[in-house]
Amino acid sequence: MTPEFKEKIDGSSSALEWELHSIFEKMEKMEKKPVETRKLTHCLGLAGTQQQDVAEIFYLLLNKLGSENVKKVFEATVTKTIECEACHTRQRDEPGDRLLLLPLSFYSHDRQSRIESVNDGLRNFLYKKTLSGDDMAFCDICKSKKPATLVQEFTCLPPVLVFQLKRFEYNPLRGFTKIHHSIKIPWTLDVPLSSPNESKSYHLFSRCEHHGNVSGGHYTALIKSTSIEQLYRCSDETVTPWTDPHESEEKEDLWSTETYLLMYRQRSTDRYVFSTLQPFP
Ligand SMILES: [Zn+2]
Repeated sequence: MTPEFKEKIDGSSSALEWELHSIFEKMEKMEKKPVETRKLTHCLGLAGTQQQDVAEIFYLLLNKLGSENVKKVFEATVTKTIECEACHTRQRDEPGDRLLLLPLSFYSHDRQSRIESVNDGLRNFLYKKTLSGDDMAFCDICKSKKPATLVQEFTCLPPVLVFQLKRFEYNPLRGFTKIHHSIKIPWTLDVPLSSPNESKSYHLFSRCEHHGNVSGGHYTALIKSTSIEQLYRCSDETVTPWTDPHESEEKEDLWSTETYLLMYRQRSTDRYVFSTLQPFP
């Protein structure tokens, strides 16, 4: 979790918040040994040995904490706007949808092409399409169905953007399957914001990876220390410095077949330093 999240957890409102606060305090002592999390999973109502989906745990944690201030660290607002092509009247579905996780599909909307990069996935998510024929939209001004343009865009962006790559999908013939496609992951990401019309710059600081298949597997996390430009791999109780074996000398984009969640922080929050993250055996 990020400093933006951690500074909002003072441990005062619930047993769950107290456990989180306690874990953060122990980690800050830099004792270079694992911190016990069993009480935290108990507060979340989870059995310790049961396989869980990390995206569901993310939702569960934020919803059980119940604080709007905490959710705002991660919450983006997405709205749909329909513009009538006849009278150019725009109708927006204010206040829009508030999303803690932004879903990135591996396929275009018509499933005719594959998404190969996070940038393409973001463009696919922020789509613009023409509504015609049977899909025409009813216009309140024209008082009839008219061809229109539908745009999905961000109207609010949070300090931390979390993307969920849709690796797990349901197939009527095969049930749930995992998609093992590789995807290109940029270190920096410019995310367009509708109002005001500008973009916010984000940088990658964490990747959560799922190793295995739909019936079971293991999660690891790669977390970047902003203080020394070093990535660390966290796997259960082990934290080790990590270098991407496929990373080019120019430190260009990363490719991954296992990344499941991606966390990007807005550049304006760079003042925080992960000074407490140290490797331990
Ligand atoms: Zn109209």
